[in-house]
Amino acid sequence: MRVVSQSTLETPITLSGVGLHSGVPCRVTLRPASADAGIALHLIGEDGGRQGAPFAARVAAVCETRLGTCLRGADGRVVRTVEHLLAAISIAAIDNLSIEVEGPEIPVMDGSASSFLDAIDRAGRATLPAARTALKLRAPIEVRDGDRFIRATPDAGRLLDVSIAFADAAIGGGSVSLDLDRPQTLGRLVRARTFCRLADIEAMREAGLGRGGSLDNAIVVDGGRILNEGGLRDPDEFVLHKALDLVGDFALAGAPIIGRIEAMRPGHDLNIEFLRRLTAAAAPVDRLVLEEKPVLAHP
Ligand SMILES: [Zn+2]
Repeated sequence: MRVVSQSTLETPITLSGVGLHSGVPCRVTLRPASADAGIALHLIGEDGGRQGAPFAARVAAVCETRLGTCLRGADGRVVRTVEHLLAAISIAAIDNLSIEVEGPEIPVMDGSASSFLDAIDRAGRATLPAARTALKLRAPIEVRDGDRFIRATPDAGRLLDVSIAFADAAIGGGSVSLDLDRPQTLGRLVRARTFCRLADIEAMREAGLGRGGSLDNAIVVDGGRILNEGGLRDPDEFVLHKALDLVGDFALAGAPIIGRIEAMRPGHDLNIEFLRRLTAAAAPVDRLVLEEKPVLAHP
């Protein structure tokens, strides 16, 4: 059986936009990197030069999970809202990248991962002469917070079941079952936008968050109403976005996770707590080299 090769981008790409929480212009440049380099962040200063040492986009760098996932470099600088970019990188199966960040945040684009994935697709994927590895569960791992939980169990596939339960009539409940190896499901996932309540916007802004949020980059709900013209992109857009956030956060494991994940009302806090358990030294997880799946002949 042939092993799956690691990958990077064929050419660099740059995306610019506003930061969802900071409200300031931000820019991110993704550059090709060599095999086994992983996903590394380089913070760019006002002078356009790289500042401080690069750091790995791994769970150890997470410093905050309120309304987004924040990473902190060794020099103390923080990069906010990494999850949608990381979700796109994970969905595109890119293993190695140098990510240059200008500004305090990754630009929010349209609130989903689609701009990032489109840019990655345009740049193209280059294979590298090293094997891609994955983390395979050998026993269940579960984290809980009241009735919220994330439970992972051993499975040969990469399956993700996510459920939500919001009091807001416009959001309500819902669940999706996704096979992360199926391109059809990934297409729905990447387009799902972030969302918030109209009533929470004021409090969020007072806390210094959500300053770049608008109807162009978030779904805003008010009780039973969706304020965005055009409504939802998908009837399951809210729960799909929670799934997208989870995929982005789980990219901080540094390798794809093989198993079945069930997530009940997940959020960045629970996602990161789960990852800390998964990546702990004693976790029931094996690292294995990925092999190409046999192509099934159509009957
Ligand atoms: Zn999100």
